[in-house]
Amino acid sequence: PRRPDCPLDKEELGNKTWGLLHTIAAKYPEKPGSTDKKTMSEFFTLLSRIYPCEHCAQDFREDLKCDPPKLECREELSQWLCRLHNKVNKKIGKEEFDCSKVNERWRDGWKDGSCD
Ligand code: FAD
Repeated sequence: PRRPDCPLDKEELGNKTWGLLHTIAAKYPEKPGSTDKKTMSEFFTLLSRIYPCEHCAQDFREDLKCDPPKLECREELSQWLCRLHNKVNKKIGKEEFDCSKVNERWRDGWKDGSCD
């Protein structure tokens, strides 16, 4: 196994970034104000400009253009992000994630209590 204190490769960067993004979506307000929506919209735009994997960032910008973030409430944003992530999963040959489980995975923990 690779040492834990090495520079991030594409996989580790992606894994950690998805963790941050899904957690941000899981904590997004249920009733966002206009400032919340604007901040989140700008965050995705800016991240897609600076994401430090150039070919990933290019596709990310295209995806955002075709399917911009759904910002009306937490559930919408979480589901939108799950679909975006699944698009990447599909592209790189990874299994698709069941988006009905996104709150268990990123907010509440599994129903069997294994995260408690
Ligand atoms: P990850 O895909 O990193 O997922 C982490 C965890 O999230 C999984 O273990 C699972 O529990 C959960 N999860 C999986 N799918 C979903 C979902 N749909 N919704 C919610 N939770 C989910 N890599 C490339 O090779 N080419 C690219 O073009 C590319 N583009 C990327 C664009 C972005 C914006 C990001 C953030 C990453 C990108 N990556 C890309 C990296 C890639 O998506 C993976 O992060 C990387 O391959 C490591 O995969 P992983 O197996 O650790 O799981």
